[in-house]
Amino acid sequence: MTEKFMKNEQLNFIKKQIALIKDSQKKNVPQTVLAAVIDLANAKILDLFPNIPLEQQEMLDLSKLKTDKEYDQYIGHLSEFMLSFPTISEPQLKKMFPKHKKLKLPDLSNIDHSKLTYLSWNDLRSNKKFIVYGLDGKMAGIECEFTPASKKNFCSFCHCFGEVVYVSTVTKAKKAKNPDYYKSIGNLICADSSECNKKITNVEYLTTFLRESLGIEK
Ligand SMILES: [Zn+2]
Repeated sequence: MTEKFMKNEQLNFIKKQIALIKDSQKKNVPQTVLAAVIDLANAKILDLFPNIPLEQQEMLDLSKLKTDKEYDQYIGHLSEFMLSFPTISEPQLKKMFPKHKKLKLPDLSNIDHSKLTYLSWNDLRSNKKFIVYGLDGKMAGIECEFTPASKKNFCSFCHCFGEVVYVSTVTKAKKAKNPDYYKSIGNLICADSSECNKKITNVEYLTTFLRESLGIEK
């Protein structure tokens, strides 16, 4: 049995590569071009998993796949190797945000943890958006003020175009010479985090945003 090794954002990345291949197939590009698209997709996918055993490398190889059914089966097979988002209890979440006596919590029982890169929920009453992510092996949480955006835009986390909200958070970073210094960081991110979790293909910006908010040096 192969152990679980794939994160939600990595499976999303693979799905995106397959969508690109299918798109080239639909456009009837010359065979050599299609072969190049598939080669590149394969290389990019393997790049996501440095140092994996040969068995897993072979499993990830999509060069032999042709039909939609084969691609679906491939994704279905990979889905068996998903690493789950860590289970987190309501008391643990409350402890993460001690300032909120009546913290509104997400319905954890309703969330598929294998399809999560980050956990997020909104409290409409206080206009807060909470974001929880396993940063450097430890669960980290931040709260942001949020304002609905009037127009669709690109999300900073998943880089997709859609319904977004403007979030801002005050960083905990301090400047030695100026104790009153504070910096607010703002971003447009998907209004619906379950949609964002379906589209996010890397955690680069998410982790940068969290580090900056929490005042953690890289
Ligand atoms: Zn997003």
